[in-house]
Amino acid sequence: MLLAHRIRINVTAAQRDYFARAAGTARRVWNWALAEWNRQAARGLRPNAMALKKAFNRIKYSDPEWLDADGKPWLRAIHRDAHAQPFSNLAKAWRRYFEQRRAGQLAHVPRFKKKGRSAESFYLANDKFRLEGRSAVLPKVGRVALRETLRWSGKIMGASVSREAGHWYLAVQVDVPDQLARRRRTGDAVTGVDSGVTSAATLSNGEKIAAPRPLKAALRRLRIRSRRQSRKLEAAKAAAGIVGRIGKGTRLPVSKNRTKGALALARLQARIARVRRDFTHKLTTRLCRENQAVVIEDLNVRGMLANGRLARAIADVGFYEFRRQLTYKSRRYGAHIVLADRWFPSSKLCSRCGTRNRELALGDRAWTCAGCDALHDRDVNAAINLQRLATGALAARTALPEASQAVTRGTAAGLAPAGGGKVTLVRHEHGQQDGSGQEENAVHICTRNR
Ligand SMILES: [Zn+2]
Repeated sequence: MLLAHRIRINVTAAQRDYFARAAGTARRVWNWALAEWNRQAARGLRPNAMALKKAFNRIKYSDPEWLDADGKPWLRAIHRDAHAQPFSNLAKAWRRYFEQRRAGQLAHVPRFKKKGRSAESFYLANDKFRLEGRSAVLPKVGRVALRETLRWSGKIMGASVSREAGHWYLAVQVDVPDQLARRRRTGDAVTGVDSGVTSAATLSNGEKIAAPRPLKAALRRLRIRSRRQSRKLEAAKAAAGIVGRIGKGTRLPVSKNRTKGALALARLQARIARVRRDFTHKLTTRLCRENQAVVIEDLNVRGMLANGRLARAIADVGFYEFRRQLTYKSRRYGAHIVLADRWFPSSKLCSRCGTRNRELALGDRAWTCAGCDALHDRDVNAAINLQRLATGALAARTALPEASQAVTRGTAAGLAPAGGGKVTLVRHEHGQQDGSGQEENAVHICTRNR
């Protein structure tokens, strides 16, 4: 089982400098490869990442673009993994794009990475570094001090070095033997989880789990600091005599205060991301530990983000990260994750008699069923409906046509997608194998934490 551990590095000035240059190299090589890919595709060719890498290797020590002011190839100072990995990352990104398109999902073509805007990281192959307790020996920089020792034992598959709000991290991917990675479950319940707007999560047993409180205070501070920061930007614009939008390529003079403010903002965002991640970890661990099956909605998160009012709430809950953690942890605990089709009307069905409430509006927190007079809390009712998808109880009670799809071993058979939904069992191919470490997929929904 592939698991990752992301460990903070105590960097020296020289190491920080090298890391920044190596990450910058990885970004430039990615951009070069993507530009070549696009050029070839535009000419009707079929680009190939490995052929691009070969082409790059031919020019990387001679092309003027890759030489420094003295005419020397600066790439020689950077370990080759940092400039070789972007090619396989690009191949992977395109493969994912075509797969998603074929599956009829929303897909985005790989994009160019912008300095200061994109995640900064570079890769290290497993034979290029070694871990020794609380330190690691990396190519070009030698020994670096780590804040923790590696949590997993197993075969080390690779690592990436990345930056978050001024701090550097080493994310080590380890292939942990299954018997070591497995954890004992403490319960065999089946729980439906409604990821909500007012509570972070509502469980089918009626429990409402609120987002962590420090988050609220931090979010308030975030608003204040972002406002301050944008005022500084406005001031800089006014000083430069710019009205309206800043033209492309224009560089505003950067004051010390603005730099300081930007760093403070980044730190706060990183803290918020950490608090959130910690909360999500605890919740997902608990769900996988106590349940043989957890049912969640397969939300169209992108679609909901487009809806301004809900956007904030959904971003806060970090649904993608929640689902990602559930998926890999369910393997460790032997729990099953069941996805309800996003069209399954979990909120609108009465969990007692199955009557559908077509009038239910987004703002209705509670409602009374017209069929059986039951008074429902919106979120609890939705969570119960989700739970029943896995147990089949909904089908038994409401005599709706049963789906042929069987649930996995252990749980009850006969899923009943009332209202024309479909249920999918999450497969476990999305571990943490990507080079960027634990927060891989979180970036899309959680706040930008860099
Ligand atoms: Zn009812």
